[in-house]
Amino acid sequence: ATPTALMAGTGRGAQLGILIRGPEVLETARRIDTIVLDKTGTVTTGRMSLGRVHTAPGTAEADVLRLAGALEDASDHPVARAVATGAAHRTGGTLPDPVDFADVPGLGVRGTVEGHRVLAGRARLLADAGISLPEPLAAALAEAAAQGRTAVAVAWDGAARGVLEVSDTVKESSAEAVAELRALGLRPILLTGDNRAVAEAVARAVGIEEVHAEVLPQEKVEVIRRLQAEGRSVAMAGDGVNDAAALAVADLGLSMGTGADAAIEAGDLTLVRGDLKVAADAIRLSRRTLSTIR
Ligand code: ADP
Ligand code: MG
Repeated sequence: ATPTALMAGTGRGAQLGILIRGPEVLETARRIDTIVLDKTGTVTTGRMSLGRVHTAPGTAEADVLRLAGALEDASDHPVARAVATGAAHRTGGTLPDPVDFADVPGLGVRGTVEGHRVLAGRARLLADAGISLPEPLAAALAEAAAQGRTAVAVAWDGAARGVLEVSDTVKESSAEAVAELRALGLRPILLTGDNRAVAEAVARAVGIEEVHAEVLPQEKVEVIRRLQAEGRSVAMAGDGVNDAAALAVADLGLSMGTGADAAIEAGDLTLVRGDLKVAADAIRLSRRTLSTIR
């Protein structure tokens, strides 16, 4: 391709809401045959809200909300924002400050609140600390996941105390975007750290058949590498800090303009409005730009 055609393509991209890192990116985009889509914040809005609260026998709902909310208030994860905002609202007060707070990427948060050692996140975070979910909570967690809602398990002082349900909504244009990408000959794959049942519910809603769920942030890169080793030319679309490494490893990294700075910096292309349909526009643009000069 001539530099002039590529520059023109880059300019056209800006009009469509696509920021292209460099002219050579269009050459790569043209060859893509597989697109890996992060779930939270990419296929879904990532604007989550707190739903039902389940408690273990003898535990007060207000305590679960206050302790989990206090901890999540220190995290930027979309799930954490929903828990903290909902907890502050429902307890009608300010949340206490946690001490020795730690974010555990892809799993949840831990820290000390009001003298209690608190964990909030995936059941696996609790299991790693030797804490299992007693029956009423395990059933609540399974039921939430089956309905496509993310469950946040809460434990303190060595015992599981509650399960919070958080729900997200699929972006309005995601199903159409997947159909367009497929029509362009791309194979769509959903990739997420979330629970398998939640991931499958979202995949079904947008028409994706291939799902990789419960993938830790560092394992997202491995999924991309494995596809590349099979000879695929892979695009990855993501928005989160924990998608940055996968965006960098992919042949084409598509970052959501609505996402984290680290993800935007790792991408080759930024979809300014975070609309996946623009990913299809980008692929079409690359093919058109490169055919006009042949
Ligand atoms: P995704 O791949 O969907 O963008 P992440 O890898 O960031 O998601 O997180 C995977 C899962 O880990 C989330 O769906 C959630 O269940 C859990 N999780 C991560 N961070 C938190 C947190 N701060 N609080 C509660 N749960 C969390
Ligand atoms: Mg995400």
